[in-house]
Amino acid sequence: MRIRFLGAAGEVTGSSYLVESSQAKVLVDFGMFQGARGDDDRNRDLGDLKPEALDAVVVTHAHQDHTGRLPLLRGLRAQLHATPATVELSRILLEDSARIQESEADRENRWREREGKPQVEPLYRREDVDAIHGRWSALALGNSREIAPGVQLRFQEAGHILGSASVVLEVTDVGGMSKRVVFSGDIGQNGMPFIRDPDLCAQDADLIVCESTYGDRDHRPTSETFEELAEILRQAAWARHKVLVPAFAVGRAQLMIHAMMELARDGRSPQVPVYLDSPLAAKATKLYTSFCDLLDDELQNACRVGALARDLAIAKPVLSGAESRELNTLWEPMVVIAGSGMCNGGRIVHHLRHNLWRHGVQVVLPGFMAQGTLGRALVEVSQGHRSHVRVMGQDVLVRARIHTIGGLSAHAGKTGLLEWIAGGYQGKSKPKLVLTHGEPDPRHALAVAAQARVGVTAIEPMRGDVIEL
Ligand SMILES: [Zn+2]
Repeated sequence: MRIRFLGAAGEVTGSSYLVESSQAKVLVDFGMFQGARGDDDRNRDLGDLKPEALDAVVVTHAHQDHTGRLPLLRGLRAQLHATPATVELSRILLEDSARIQESEADRENRWREREGKPQVEPLYRREDVDAIHGRWSALALGNSREIAPGVQLRFQEAGHILGSASVVLEVTDVGGMSKRVVFSGDIGQNGMPFIRDPDLCAQDADLIVCESTYGDRDHRPTSETFEELAEILRQAAWARHKVLVPAFAVGRAQLMIHAMMELARDGRSPQVPVYLDSPLAAKATKLYTSFCDLLDDELQNACRVGALARDLAIAKPVLSGAESRELNTLWEPMVVIAGSGMCNGGRIVHHLRHNLWRHGVQVVLPGFMAQGTLGRALVEVSQGHRSHVRVMGQDVLVRARIHTIGGLSAHAGKTGLLEWIAGGYQGKSKPKLVLTHGEPDPRHALAVAAQARVGVTAIEPMRGDVIEL
């Protein structure tokens, strides 16, 4: 059997791996490339991948960089296997993604028409999303299923967002030779509020593919992060200014609301009004409270008796674009949570344009920002590496205070990743280790640390590389 690395190889976005045996072809994730110039072309290009020849598609979790290209699998005859929560979240996420693709193409086509330039097609349309919707097949964590000839699938908890899973595949070739391969998906932090801790990597594998987003550093402890957030909210109330939070609609948005609610309840911060300026996040929030058994032990009960839903309802959903723009006319302390998470689109962009140049405004960056995104530029401002960023075609001097609060990250830091990897070496086998889903420096740092921890030299593939087993 062999594995081809179709994305997230030497970068964070575009997760996708093709597993091929003598009797089956299984695709693991088909995520969007985000942030870099030329990504639109990369997203459109399927290379020699033939959707109709796939026997199964496995989806680790409902983040765009893992699911965003699924609607491009036109002609797919196979099923899409994911946990029940991932199925539900992916449905709403992909519908939203199609809407964004269509409206971006419309906008571009308006100026193209004026300039006499040829029209562009959206990356995909709602019809493409509808075409794959009938193909979802839910598999609960811990259960096993044969998804293709000789391929057995099991999901285990990845602790990253609701429904997130690592993937364990048992792949048997025609001759009866069997191999076990583990894909980490995105691994969450231990001890995070809200979501359960990740399971360690499954034992007795032949190959482990692990993410390396934060392979070179650990996050600040959650307790310090909560204190930092409390201070930000106290400042906002005192200065009567906005706090802008770019957040993924699924995961970070809900965690941020919950964290702010807890801080206010404990009297550590004032109750600053929170606006959830993302219809998608509002939908995702409803789903969070309908999968109580996936939440961590502390929250399960609160979820079952409806207290969690009441807590999360503290955030006022902002549904229309007009309501969103109206927030720019309000001069009072408030927290605005809006997508996209890396500020490369979505409503957060107009909030940033209106507010980045103002003293007193604060921006909280809770998630990872890929190279080339506006979010990454803001991280560089916080590090003192630049003073201006480019927003909607204009250079803006950033006077707002930028906070990167990694302690609420959905990703494990270096120590957590090493622990997860070490779990895979507690059994009888000494698996090969492959590191993906990380920029070159963090990935290599994790490779060096993994060598010291488990005595294996990790493979660091680039896009298109193949590993034979
Ligand atoms: Zn993710």
